[in-house]
Amino acid sequence: MANHRSILLIYTGGTIGMVENPASGALEALDFTYLYDNVPELRRIGCEISVEQLTPPIDSSAITPQIWEQIATIIETNYDLFDGFVVLHGTDTMSYTASALSFMLEGLSKPVVFTGSQLPIGKLRTDGKENLITAIEIAAATLPDGQPRVPEVTIFFENYLMRANRACKVSADQFNAFASFNYPELAYAGIDIRYNDKMIYREEKPRGLKVNKDFDPNVVILKLFPGITPEVVEAILGVPRLKGVVLETFGSGNAPKADWFIEALSRALARGVVIVNVTQCPRGYVDMGRYATGHGLQEIGLVSGFDSTTEAALTKLMHLIGLGYSSEQIRELMGCSLRGEISIDGAHESFYHGIFKQRG
Ligand code: ASP
Repeated sequence: MANHRSILLIYTGGTIGMVENPASGALEALDFTYLYDNVPELRRIGCEISVEQLTPPIDSSAITPQIWEQIATIIETNYDLFDGFVVLHGTDTMSYTASALSFMLEGLSKPVVFTGSQLPIGKLRTDGKENLITAIEIAAATLPDGQPRVPEVTIFFENYLMRANRACKVSADQFNAFASFNYPELAYAGIDIRYNDKMIYREEKPRGLKVNKDFDPNVVILKLFPGITPEVVEAILGVPRLKGVVLETFGSGNAPKADWFIEALSRALARGVVIVNVTQCPRGYVDMGRYATGHGLQEIGLVSGFDSTTEAALTKLMHLIGLGYSSEQIRELMGCSLRGEISIDGAHESFYHGIFKQRG
């Protein structure tokens, strides 16, 4: 552990800091003092820790872009004062918030590590203590030249550090609750923390932090299923002010070839709505040229989300629309990797790296 590093802990809520309401038995969020009292180790961790918290702390299922903005503002205001940031967040929507922050924090050159837990910190078998302590250690870690070891937005959970915009929640009850299917993990925490340095993103020439806080919420995720009706598709695509759609398709980006479906999509595209094709499969990527059913989507103007997670595609779309780009510019930028969220260089074939091998 690098000594004398200063870390800002941003506590937003989530299971990690919850206790059972004695009347209802439901978990409710408590303020940070409670959390701190349950992890006395924080006082002897070897770096200076300061705390900011959302008031009141919330269950992450209630998260909104306004709260993403609050978290980004805390990081922006304190950026020069700390060496790294740890965000404590509920697991339910952690991959959305962490993806959103990865797009908001342009030119980031310090670690921002998200973590949380499946069991509250006051429970004997909690996973929160280890997640929290290791996240702090990662945020404080440096290279031999003193530069931060992981200067990007990440999620640390149960042994693995993942790029934030590549991770998704995969289990409602296991400690191993997050996975990064299409990009190798950035570190593995066992007895030692072993970093996968080659896969960690760093700015070649740090440009300084620029925080873009505008998100446009006029977007939707439309998940296809066999039997989906024209009424449902048309109702969703006909939502007033709709500007972006993440279309979750089958396999390598396939969808029904039915005329009504293609026409409904074409009408939305003609109104300037950007439609991004991502696959429902957690692993693999969209290749609209592979089957005729995907090819039809490409022909009418859908954008490929490649191997993007739904969370990353959605928050990227909200971010780009929020920045005021035209549909044409957004279509182009969706095909570029802004923060390592998609593998556009064939890197999806290079996942296998010893202990960083993708987990099943
Ligand atoms: N409902 C909780 C939340 O996301 C779950 C968790 O933290 O694990 O805030």
